Amino acid sequence: MAIRKIRCPKCDGFVRFEEDRIEPGHSLMFHCEHCGKEFSVRFKTKKEEKKAPSLYGCIVVLENVFCVRQSIPLMLGENLFGRRSMGTEINAPIDTADMSMDRRHCIVDVTEKPNGEIVYTVQDCESLVGTFVMNDILQKNERRVIQDGEIITLGATTLILKTKDEEE
Ligand SMILES: [Zn+2]
Repeated sequence: MAIRKIRCPKCDGFVRFEEDRIEPGHSLMFHCEHCGKEFSVRFKTKKEEKKAPSLYGCIVVLENVFCVRQSIPLMLGENLFGRRSMGTEINAPIDTADMSMDRRHCIVDVTEKPNGEIVYTVQDCESLVGTFVMNDILQKNERRVIQDGEIITLGATTLILKTKDEEE
């Protein structure tokens, strides 16, 4: 039986669980043996992972010890990325227990030129650990143009820009 681990959002300790407890679309309650607190994590359904195609592509969040793989469609304008957290309203929340990711970490801005060309830029939101594009840290107020397939790193989490929807 496959054992997976997830990080406790309260104390950062690893909690192990059996993979077959996962029910897509439902929240799973975890009890942390390290701090004694409880937390829940919702797992996406296959359909949600596939989601409706977006005109402006998406950001794919790679699976790691803190989160499952997820695909977040981009909208024209500012897409504010960060760790999903109660009380923080952002339009591109990531479901993760990665505490090195700020609740408001970076903005991916999507603009469309008059000739129809779509331009993607990323900018750090003065996050604690910074935002990296292809392993290069963004400077304060810097807006970096990003291309399809380029990698953005927020804390321990890897994001990839996909400018077109494609089946994998
Ligand atoms: Zn804990």
